[in-house]
Amino acid sequence: MAARRQSRQAKRRGKDKLKRSRDAEARINFLWTAARTVADVSGPASRHLVWLMKKIAVRLNHRLDRDAVKRRVCRRCNAVLRPGTTATVRVRRGTIIVHCNVCGSFRRFPAQCRRREAAGSTTEVPKPAAPSSAKPPR
Ligand SMILES: [Zn+2]
Repeated sequence: MAARRQSRQAKRRGKDKLKRSRDAEARINFLWTAARTVADVSGPASRHLVWLMKKIAVRLNHRLDRDAVKRRVCRRCNAVLRPGTTATVRVRRGTIIVHCNVCGSFRRFPAQCRRREAAGSTTEVPKPAAPSSAKPPR
């Protein structure tokens, strides 16, 4: 009897967790959309929404999308980074430097990884078949 009750509780807990994570995802999406929309009108309000979004994500162990969210938000002041208005973007020696115009902080991202990925997917030339045991000369 006790074991059965425990399993029901565990089952319920699992469902709660799933529902909570789904709710959190919806809330994060809403906050991100709102932050981007509000950014044109009010910087502080937008930063507060981003702060809230990050807090929810951390609490529920939800990963924010790297390209869509993480690289478009200032780590220091939570401002939504828009090239030309709130951010200055420069490319220098294979690195992308994003400068926040609100607080003055900057971040560097490698530009090579993407180039390699793009080159690998588009300009892949089929090589002649070689035996797998043969090692390249050193
Ligand atoms: Zn900033």
